[in-house]
Amino acid sequence: MTQKQERYRSYSSYLKEKYGEKVYKLPVNLPVSCPNRMEGQGCSFCSGIGTGFEAAPANIPVKEQLIRSREKIEKRYHAHKFIAYFQNYTNTFLPLPALLTYMEEALYCPEIVEISLSTRPDCIRDDYLRAFDDFRKKTGVEISLEIGLQTVNYHTLKKVNRGHGLAEYLDAVQRISCYGFPICTHMILNLPWDDMEDVIESARILSALPVDMVKLHSLYIPKDCLLYEDYIGGRITICPKEEYLDRLVQFVIHLREDIVIERLFSRIPEENAAFSNWHTSWWKLAQLWEQRMEEEDLRQGCRCDYLNGAALRRWGL
Ligand code: SF4
Repeated sequence: MTQKQERYRSYSSYLKEKYGEKVYKLPVNLPVSCPNRMEGQGCSFCSGIGTGFEAAPANIPVKEQLIRSREKIEKRYHAHKFIAYFQNYTNTFLPLPALLTYMEEALYCPEIVEISLSTRPDCIRDDYLRAFDDFRKKTGVEISLEIGLQTVNYHTLKKVNRGHGLAEYLDAVQRISCYGFPICTHMILNLPWDDMEDVIESARILSALPVDMVKLHSLYIPKDCLLYEDYIGGRITICPKEEYLDRLVQFVIHLREDIVIERLFSRIPEENAAFSNWHTSWWKLAQLWEQRMEEEDLRQGCRCDYLNGAALRRWGL
């Protein structure tokens, strides 16, 4: 086990434990949009092309998209097992029969062990979950759900134009957990209106819920998003790198130790962004964060002492 893996529960270790070997995600881009973009202008940080900057065009058949990315990854990593990752926009914002057809198409390759569906909290409904459960039973292929939340501060959720509050997220997580599908939550730790208290409260709320994974990133500003003008005009500021690293440390140490951290930093191509990661590579950021964790000998969950009757423990009961 590497030093890095000892400080937090990494996604690669989790996949190895679950599937017995390394597993790689193959991105799939479906012809789907998002209710938040259809009903308004979308989240203020969202790029016009959604989140899949490196995704293939959505008009390419699912099978073809998988073959293309699988070839590249197989050559590079000698991989044998894969996750079909329906990544862009809101994948459960499709009529259920159409979505199931795309999911079946992904199974052309017997090495697909899981289908991961990226979506929003207000696009989770019981009939879809029942159908995913049937699909999983019929095929033996795992289904996981990635839910965007970004922050637990419902005032900030309004400011970034998420189009849902905290209640929809709580509802979605509880519904999904009834079926036992792994749940991953996407979080941004430096939205301009959030402070350290919001970051810690985010870790605490996720830890109190049946959440299995988190995917973290720092806010980046695509040139075609709503926040772009505010950023260029100086109406919003992004916290300095040092503060972001502090926030990330605090988030991780308050997070339940069994929650898998799928990603610590993300990135977008420099040419697409007005701001991204303080012009620092993601691996450099990861190194700086690890140094901080090591200097103070911190580990994921070492401040997760607030669940299951904390006051009773404090009083020796
Ligand atoms: S939910 Fe996702 S795809 Fe929809 S507007 Fe927000 S960031 Fe964009």
